Amino acid sequence: MTEQPTRISDLLGSGQRSFSFEFFPPKDEAGTDQLWDAIRALEPYRPTFVSVTYGAGGSTRDTTMRVTSRIVRETGMTPLAHLTCVGHTVAEIEHVLDAYAEAGVENVMLLRGDPPEGPRAEWTPTPGGLTYAQDLVELVAARGGFDIGVAAFPEGHPGASSRDADADVLVAKAKAGADFAVTQMFFRAQDYFDLVERVRDRGADLPILPGIMPILNLAAIRRQGELIGAAVPDDVVARLAAHGEDRTAVRAAGIELAAELCEELLAGGAPGLHFYTLNRSKATLEIFGHLNVAV
Ligand code: FAD
Repeated sequence: MTEQPTRISDLLGSGQRSFSFEFFPPKDEAGTDQLWDAIRALEPYRPTFVSVTYGAGGSTRDTTMRVTSRIVRETGMTPLAHLTCVGHTVAEIEHVLDAYAEAGVENVMLLRGDPPEGPRAEWTPTPGGLTYAQDLVELVAARGGFDIGVAAFPEGHPGASSRDADADVLVAKAKAGADFAVTQMFFRAQDYFDLVERVRDRGADLPILPGIMPILNLAAIRRQGELIGAAVPDDVVARLAAHGEDRTAVRAAGIELAAELCEELLAGGAPGLHFYTLNRSKATLEIFGHLNVAV
């Protein structure tokens, strides 16, 4: 370990632009190698933090713990460990939090999670568990010891009745103790700016980091976007479709579009950028190339 992990709210409060990377728990040894190749390739960029998502159940959850602990032990980076309410009783949640604290994790991303049947299925809370992310934020804030991140949705969460209702939820999570938010992927900077405005109008000042997912494969992103309520705008589709079946050119256009989005977000006052890396470094580094972010 080269440095002690720190609190993300302090890092964001320092006024420096934040760059952060998200990873998911790998399924096997090859996936683990790929993940650590990505971590090592991105580490020299000295991200503000790196996050590790929390899976739907079973061994993937142990892997989240293992990867996060290894980041604390073997890198100088600050980890953000995700945790969801899915399938957990409150006692189990407390147990995971104990383990995170013991591993030296000081920042947690608190989420409701999606039903095991998928993001569009009906949500049923686990008996003895929690209903909303807000409940988890309240639990962790009362316990203390962690900085708290929560999810935000520039196009509104698919389960929210309106974007205003969605903003009310984010503000409730802030009032319950969230220190910062990270957004779902989105493709129009204005959706992000409008969300920030709705949240500020409601009196919450927590930093909201935009989540960036470059479109490397239009069909895959459209499918995922439909599930999570993030639409790919027509002008973006047109720029990608112009390259037809030329996958290299589509990929290059996807990187260029993501870099343009990043520039617009930073120019408009976003406090930083959070990259969904999918456990690979290449696309993120290509976007950094466009943005002139250097090691
Ligand atoms: P909540 O804030 O609880 O909202 C869920 C739904 O309930 C929304 O429709 C909301 O409008 C509604 N709602 C909330 N509070 C209330 C209330 N008091 N009254 C009435 N309605 C309410 N999933 C994973 O499984 N693992 C991960 O690691 C993970 N990481 C993520 C990271 C980011 C940055 C993002 C944006 C999402 C992530 N997700 C992850 C997906 C997330 O779990 C889903 O989007 C989930 O459907 C919503 O989670 P939430 O924390 O926003 O829930």
